[in-house]
Amino acid sequence: MVQYICIFLNGVNLVHNFTVLLLLCQLFMGPLNQEMTAPQQPFVLREEIPILMYHEIGTPSGPWKELYVEPENFVRQLDWLKENGYSTVTLDDVYAHWYYKKPLPEKPVVLTFDDGYRNMYDIVLPLLLSRDMKATFFLYPSKFNTPTGLTTEMVAEMAAKGMEIGSHTYSHKDLTKISAAQLEQELAKSKKVLEEITGKPVKFLCYPSGQFNEQVIKESKKAGYLAAVTTQMGKAAHTQDPYRWKRVRINYSTTLASFSKRIAD
Ligand SMILES: [Zn+2]
Repeated sequence: MVQYICIFLNGVNLVHNFTVLLLLCQLFMGPLNQEMTAPQQPFVLREEIPILMYHEIGTPSGPWKELYVEPENFVRQLDWLKENGYSTVTLDDVYAHWYYKKPLPEKPVVLTFDDGYRNMYDIVLPLLLSRDMKATFFLYPSKFNTPTGLTTEMVAEMAAKGMEIGSHTYSHKDLTKISAAQLEQELAKSKKVLEEITGKPVKFLCYPSGQFNEQVIKESKKAGYLAAVTTQMGKAAHTQDPYRWKRVRINYSTTLASFSKRIAD
């Protein structure tokens, strides 16, 4: 477009039209001067990025105590991240960094929460917002509007407030133990429903109970997911297959010392 304007203007009063051209360039391309003079940030590759894995934030009330983190411990963990210079980023940021060289802050960290318990809205969301932090929530729509799950309105609000919503399939079945048709349905239906609720693309997947195989990866790609997280322990790395990103598990018994060690080491 700009080239055509340039050709059109060529040969007419040069000084006057240079001003016109500049204005047109700004109109179509944004503020040209600022872009041209802004210092270019050199791309620094963040080779490893910790993707933290949480489930419930609350006081344990069932047999799966280790899936909980007490709210006061969670607050200490968030504050430790802030005090130690970590910036929360989304999986979309990580993907864009590793595959499209989008710059990331010096110490990026991703907070992920699996399953979509009600305490994500009641406890986690306000704690994140008050600290200007963001997170990724892996949700499965069959849990929505149940007594312990999020409502669809809550999910929409969380997305509108900057939280990343990822798919945890439609009904949290072991993807390695269902038929090919069911597998396709679990992956596609979840993506579609979550996109309808949030009005945003759902690009990332979390395998229920960490179960996956080659077929699951193949179908995840086909369903349009860009990457997927596992329950394999460790930091995610740019050298890892994007459908096998590792995560750092945070449990009920994780002390602040072990929390900081898992992230900083
Ligand atoms: Zn789960």
